[in-house]
Amino acid sequence: MKEQETTYELSEFKAASKALCPRCRKGKIFTGNTYGFKTQKMNTHCDYCGLRYEREPGYFYVSMFVSYAFTVAEMITACVAAYVITGNDNSFWLYSIVALLTVFILSPFNYRYSRVVLMYWLSPGLNYNPNIKQKEINPTSRTL
Ligand SMILES: [Zn+2]
Repeated sequence: MKEQETTYELSEFKAASKALCPRCRKGKIFTGNTYGFKTQKMNTHCDYCGLRYEREPGYFYVSMFVSYAFTVAEMITACVAAYVITGNDNSFWLYSIVALLTVFILSPFNYRYSRVVLMYWLSPGLNYNPNIKQKEINPTSRTL
């Protein structure tokens, strides 16, 4: 009673965690891994369905707000963790270093997933279409 691979569909969260195209959930949004020796770059179009990721000029500026929210949440979490571990509540340098190190280490993650969150959950009209065919839409097309 094993399900066939061809009928298997990724859940929305799993597809987002793998940074796959929000429309077909098959093409990759980025080249390379989040943490690798090569800098991660974003594909302009989905390899599978041809979706243009930057829907309009300046579309990804909005992901800065998502990235800001990620960064604040990570810094607060790291500083609370530092407080719980060390019990030190009056060291400026401890918390400054912990906060800056957290931002530095997690910046590739924030870069990638702020854009993924923007495309998956903050873009009206960009929905999953399980029936989309490969390269159905012209890659140079600006419309969805
Ligand atoms: Zn796609």
